[in-house]
Amino acid sequence: MMQENADIVIIGGGIVGLMTARLLAREGADVLLIEAGDLGAEASGANAGSIHLQIQYPEFVSYGEDWARAYTPCLRFLKTSLALWQDLPGELWADLGVTLAGGLIAARTEAQMAHIRAKSVIEAEAGIETRILGRDDLLRLAPYLSSDAIGGGFCPLEGKANPLQVTPHLAGSAAEAGARIVTHTRVTGIARQTGAYVVETPRGAVRTGRIVNAAGAFAGRIGAMLGTHLDIDGFPLQVTVTEPVAAFIPHLVYSAAGKLSLKQLANGGCVIGGGWPARERGNGVLVTDPKSLSGNMGMAAGVVPAIAASRALRSWTAWVNGTPDWRPILGEDPNAPGVIHALFPWVGFSAGPMTATVAAALALGRPSPVGLKGLSLLYD
Ligand SMILES: Cc1cc2nc3c(=O)[nH]c(=O)nc-3n(C[C@H](O)[C@H](O)[C@H](O)COP(=O)(O)OP(=O)(O)OC[C@H]3O[C@@H](n4cnc5c(N)ncnc54)[C@H](O)[C@@H]3O)c2cc1C
Repeated sequence: MMQENADIVIIGGGIVGLMTARLLAREGADVLLIEAGDLGAEASGANAGSIHLQIQYPEFVSYGEDWARAYTPCLRFLKTSLALWQDLPGELWADLGVTLAGGLIAARTEAQMAHIRAKSVIEAEAGIETRILGRDDLLRLAPYLSSDAIGGGFCPLEGKANPLQVTPHLAGSAAEAGARIVTHTRVTGIARQTGAYVVETPRGAVRTGRIVNAAGAFAGRIGAMLGTHLDIDGFPLQVTVTEPVAAFIPHLVYSAAGKLSLKQLANGGCVIGGGWPARERGNGVLVTDPKSLSGNMGMAAGVVPAIAASRALRSWTAWVNGTPDWRPILGEDPNAPGVIHALFPWVGFSAGPMTATVAAALALGRPSPVGLKGLSLLYD
């Protein structure tokens, strides 16, 4: 049976929940994190490890410029998060595989270049530097790219981190700072009492004044326990890693020809993803979709031909947290005082450090360090 009281209960032990727990514990707060399974075993441990900053190309093309302009508060938020990523290895005294050598997108047609240019204008308005590169400059910067590239875009601040390293180190640091962490315990209900909430689990109930909802793709269920509809859902994705090969790709690589994110890990393996769907077998169990596997590998080999000569070692799946317009649900629940929703969709690994920073400030009753109006769906 769990202890019956905590000042703050965090639901979910992914990057957001663990980092929020660490920040709160370091401020001396009495914090209890409850995780349904293992720490970092959902999206935060299974993602592709891209540290994104630029507007994602496929969404720019399908949703258009008005959407991209409305998304600029998220770009600024991601930029602040990226600065926190830079400091994180030093803070945790750990090699997290953080390398910010830039992200580049390769184009094959003039129409794709026109989209990259239009995207770059909006990125510049948000204070994000993206350079437009002609064919020669692109291939000089990235000689591993296919020679059919006619040019591209380069965002110098982007990069990668190793998700398998990040959550364990965050968990260790949070526990060391005094956060209590309970795993394999699912929150099944939340009851309201005067001035408090009672968080119910099969192992007992916890009375608390404040709750941080960091349940990722499953956060809508936590909202429902409070009578709040959160427009967030889970979408099944898959990622593949190749055998280790000699280092040849320092960048995060995208393609304007289709969905792709590609990077090389410190051990030489190339991680290939970019939003290709996995399949649900039933009851939430995911399996890799062979069509996505071949589509994703074909896309990768078309952009970086050397990929065709590497063996794919392993594919895996996970639920990503998604909102329809890509904006986060971040802030105090207007109908449930003291409940903070800390949900950054689609690129929530990149945004994790800043999402946790905001959640921790609000959970301590302090103002958010960034304006949430225009950014968070909660304040529309
Ligand atoms: C395959 C894939 C690739 C991705 N690639 C990238 C990428 O390259 N770059 C990027 O920035 N983002 C990427 N993302 C998105 C990113 O991983 C997520 O947005 C981010 O990890 C969300 O973190 P989180 O802490 O909010 O949620 P999660 O990591 O999902 O953690 C939520 C936790 O809450 C727990 N939980 C849920 N319900 C309950 C409950 N009732 N009681 C107790 N615990 C509960 C879950 O078990 C889970 O551990 C990817 C996602 C996927 C799936």
